[in-house]
Amino acid sequence: MKLDQFPRYPLTFGPSPVHHLRRLSDHLGGAQVWAKREDVSSGLAYGGNKIRKMEYIVPDAIASGADTLVSIGGYQSNHTRQVAAVAAHLGMKCRLVQEKWVPWDDPVNDKVGNILLSRMMGADSRLDPAGFDIGIRDSWKDALREVEEAGSTPYAIPAGASEHPLGGLGFANWAFEVAEQEKQFGVFFDTIVVCTVTGSTHAGMIAGFAALEELTGVKRRVLGIDASATLEKTRDQVARIARHTAELIELGRDIRDDEIQVLEGWAGELYGLPVESTMSAMAMGAQLEAMITDPVYEGKSLAGLIDLVKDKDIPADSTVLYSHLGGQQAVNAYHSLWDPVK
Ligand code: PLP
Repeated sequence: MKLDQFPRYPLTFGPSPVHHLRRLSDHLGGAQVWAKREDVSSGLAYGGNKIRKMEYIVPDAIASGADTLVSIGGYQSNHTRQVAAVAAHLGMKCRLVQEKWVPWDDPVNDKVGNILLSRMMGADSRLDPAGFDIGIRDSWKDALREVEEAGSTPYAIPAGASEHPLGGLGFANWAFEVAEQEKQFGVFFDTIVVCTVTGSTHAGMIAGFAALEELTGVKRRVLGIDASATLEKTRDQVARIARHTAELIELGRDIRDDEIQVLEGWAGELYGLPVESTMSAMAMGAQLEAMITDPVYEGKSLAGLIDLVKDKDIPADSTVLYSHLGGQQAVNAYHSLWDPVK
């Protein structure tokens, strides 16, 4: 099927906003930097990148006859908050497994931010001591079984909605949205920068821009910035999902290796823990543009973009699009990073 033939359940306000980051561009003194904002794209619990993925998953969930969305993430998972939001919006129940993905022992880490919002929206959110892994987890399979045993009908959504067969479609469509907005603004984004962890955001973009390339002959770079700190797993997952999504939308050719670029250097040692470049990128985004990013995801991808522009890996005559995927709700759990010195 072609992309526009897949059923899509609207959960966003429409195309996510695109705008020029003038002060950041001036400060970096190289490429012009723009942002496309998934963090303000939906009215469902502050939105984020999973809402867009869910637009293509919800029709399947409804058709399955399920009454409970079941998913998994870390304590401060943005993904599970967005699944809880979609469940509330649809009038479904929601069961969440929240694993201890990050060794961040702030006493409010399992209480504020994303997890607080999920609970507020009525999700049955339960903590699990397991550590970080983007793969399929036993705790999630157990949750699915428990929902069934309790007489409900579960619908399974894996971490980040990435291993879901339809998980890449949302961001394949994002590529076409970008092409429309380029016409509107009279601009061409030769480079896209996006944060990558469970992979289907970046993978969807790769498939979508490949489809655009087939139509227009125009190539661009879609650079994933790894924030998983388990680079090989993420790279494999991006490649696999990009190829699967390309097949789904009948691209008609394989995804080339040069289309899959997951860059390392900004994740630090561990998922979820900021490093110096993350802190300085978050400060730059906030103080030059009032664009808030988080220490787990967007602070890391913004750090990547800043270095690539500064070092001219993204040349000065480029126009680069920073894909802001949301995630600000987690900053509450990281308040100590900004606590005033006593
Ligand atoms: N940015 C934010 C704010 C996220 O919540 C996520 C989710 O994992 C990502 C980036 C990475 O997206 P993906 O898991 O699709 O690679």
